[in-house]
Amino acid sequence: MTMSYEKNIEAAPNEIHEAMRGQPIGGAIKNVANMFGIRSSTQLFSDLGSALRRQGAGFQFGVSSLGFIRPDISIPTYQGKRPIHGLAPIYHCFDEVGGGKGYSQRVTRKTSRDFRGKGLTYDEHDGVDFVCPVGTELVAAAPGTVVMIRDTWLRGGLTVALDHGDGVLTQYTHCWKAKVHLGQKVKRGDVVALSGVSGMDMTIFCPWIPPHIHFMVWENGVPLDPFNSDNSTWYSPDGSGMPVSVAATEAFREELIPDTSAVDIQAINDVIPQCIDDAVRDQLQALDGQYEYIAALLEDSLHHDKWAWPEALRGVSLRGKKGGETRQLTLPLSSNFYRGAFFADKKIPKHNFWA
Ligand SMILES: [Zn+2]
Repeated sequence: MTMSYEKNIEAAPNEIHEAMRGQPIGGAIKNVANMFGIRSSTQLFSDLGSALRRQGAGFQFGVSSLGFIRPDISIPTYQGKRPIHGLAPIYHCFDEVGGGKGYSQRVTRKTSRDFRGKGLTYDEHDGVDFVCPVGTELVAAAPGTVVMIRDTWLRGGLTVALDHGDGVLTQYTHCWKAKVHLGQKVKRGDVVALSGVSGMDMTIFCPWIPPHIHFMVWENGVPLDPFNSDNSTWYSPDGSGMPVSVAATEAFREELIPDTSAVDIQAINDVIPQCIDDAVRDQLQALDGQYEYIAALLEDSLHHDKWAWPEALRGVSLRGKKGGETRQLTLPLSSNFYRGAFFADKKIPKHNFWA
């Protein structure tokens, strides 16, 4: 059964801008905090505490980190502007050297390389960053089922994940609002969330890094570069390899939503007790029976919380192996505003670029 639902009609960016001005200071601060995914001071301090306890030194920077500061993209995007030509800037690609091996807080560009051999990435970056103003509709990059909605400031803020079958998942991170519910079936191009700037890294680096969606592709629990992988690749009719919006792919609109119930319950039940962090293990054990959700959370945890797991479990398979069919992905941004994307290697001009 496919559920249909109305497209979001709230004027999201205005709502945020309204929240930030003309209000008593207390109210404005509360709303700005909420925009960054900070739901309460209790949550903030507990997340900060666990970040320091578990990850010690915190973020590590080098001179190469200065490349992150992109006011040419950040300022117009925080102002709610979009490129007039409808192409979303790609701010960072997947790191072909260390991406997919596990999360780290090293943010330099010393050894990292994107799939072109260029430097539009950083150490162990495990996704593709599409720049878009807060409140942009994020859409399903392929048909699938909503298997994870998680709101953790420490780990990328509000995050939604879709299962596309054959062990392929996509994940949409730093969201503002989820527009779907767990278990919902979605067609390609359906709105799943509104983009935001939620999460610890976005909060700390505002306004130096632009609002963006950190888009991830997973295969059997391992993050992949969708520009450079056999099992998931961008749909690009002109052969350029650049992702295009669903509006350019009418042929895909009638695709069947794949069967996504192939999680290995036995494997999940074997892996969770091996967690060496009580809090993480308790959280997973408390989720009873929703195995697709548990599998997605567990895969994410095995990758991002690597301190909490024995090394031998990295990349363990929690899903039945299938044919390994290629999944064609379309741009995860609304075709109301975007027709494709481009690599923002060079400084973007101030004039005649932003609408
Ligand atoms: Zn990212």
